[in-house]
Amino acid sequence: MQQLCKSVREFVQGSLWPLEAEIEANNSLEPVRAQHILKLSREKDFYAMNMPKEVGGRGLGAVETCLVEMEIGQTVDVLMRRAFGNVYDVLLQCQGAQRDEWLIPAVKGERVCGIAMTEPEAGSDAAGVSTTATTDGNGWKITGEKRYIGDAITADFFVVTALTTAGARSRGISVFLVDKSLPGVRVGDNIPMMGMRGMPVSELFFENVSLGPEHLLGEVDRGLPLLLSAFDALRLFHIGARGVGMARRALDIMVDYAQQRHQFGKPIGEYQMIQSMLADCAMQWNAARLMVLEAAWEIDQGRDPREKVSMVKVYVAETLGRIADRAVQVLGARGYSKEYPIERIYRDCRVLRIFDGTSEIHRGVVARGLLKKGTSGVL
Ligand SMILES: Cc1cc2nc3c(=O)[nH]c(=O)nc-3n(C[C@H](O)[C@H](O)[C@H](O)COP(=O)(O)OP(=O)(O)OC[C@H]3O[C@@H](n4cnc5c(N)ncnc54)[C@H](O)[C@@H]3O)c2cc1C
Repeated sequence: MQQLCKSVREFVQGSLWPLEAEIEANNSLEPVRAQHILKLSREKDFYAMNMPKEVGGRGLGAVETCLVEMEIGQTVDVLMRRAFGNVYDVLLQCQGAQRDEWLIPAVKGERVCGIAMTEPEAGSDAAGVSTTATTDGNGWKITGEKRYIGDAITADFFVVTALTTAGARSRGISVFLVDKSLPGVRVGDNIPMMGMRGMPVSELFFENVSLGPEHLLGEVDRGLPLLLSAFDALRLFHIGARGVGMARRALDIMVDYAQQRHQFGKPIGEYQMIQSMLADCAMQWNAARLMVLEAAWEIDQGRDPREKVSMVKVYVAETLGRIADRAVQVLGARGYSKEYPIERIYRDCRVLRIFDGTSEIHRGVVARGLLKKGTSGVL
């Protein structure tokens, strides 16, 4: 495992870090560069490492995946996606021919998958979608509008939530696999963002899109619980562990800078107020890392990680924000400027408190768990 982490770290630092400045400047990753890093990653067997061996992944456990994701998290979002893949666990629900059409190509990096849940009037309330799928008994027609869809421009197909029983909310939503090439699927405007440059976020429209029965993932009306439970592990890997990686990069830069930068005749690291910031960051980083690993261990034991993952989501996102803020302070003007990656991390990390369930929603999950199961049922 140590060797794998070391290889991933060398790949991130040697092949991905050099691309970051260009992505920041152009707000995009050249397709030819994306192809190249995908090729390098596949040669090293780094793509979709968390997927089971029988579908082409490495079959890493949750703790192992988190350790690797902490290395992956040390670069920018678009490079993490292109080099290591965002292969959503929910695709493991593919059955029969669905596996060859959607799951296997996604694991191989041949087809990119996007998640299309959020709508203009349905954000945190994922059950409040208006996108509707109707059936004639032999297939489906989907109509609706999705918004803030990451990678919609690049994706080849989407996992889409749609209402199949009007008024039933979470008991009336199904999940469909929708190819972008189908007539009636249209990617709308790109929505400019504060950070995560190079990772397009867009509107997505479905206008009377015809789907065969094989496009339904799981059972009719049972899609939302299927999707939300599949997100627990992914949230731990992509927000928890990657967030710890992002925070580590900021902390490394801070410590290095505090040793190198001299003011009033000595390194700023000798001033107690700087030391206090470094110490607080290190303590909180370590706590965040251990929380991630504990939740991962619970997954490996086959336990339901719901509340633990929500705790991780909130704590890592907020800790990363505090570390990025202190990093700007320790680096002074250089922290605020684009000369160092710190100002980018400061912008990029803000969204971790918003997407994949806001901090408020995840605090709600923790609190409801405590009230229903008691402290020992959650902690
Ligand atoms: C960069 C980026 C990428 C994204 N990628 C995707 C994607 O690929 N696919 C996708 O489907 N979506 C994506 N999203 C959307 C994201 O998941 C939503 O933004 C998120 O679920 C929150 O929804 P909202 O923004 O509509 O906020 P709202 O739900 O409108 O919330 C607004 C505020 O109200 C609070 N709030 C809402 N309900 C409650 C409550 N019950 N209790 C307490 N507070 C509450 C929220 O916490 C928040 O502070 C992305 C968003 C961003 C910014």
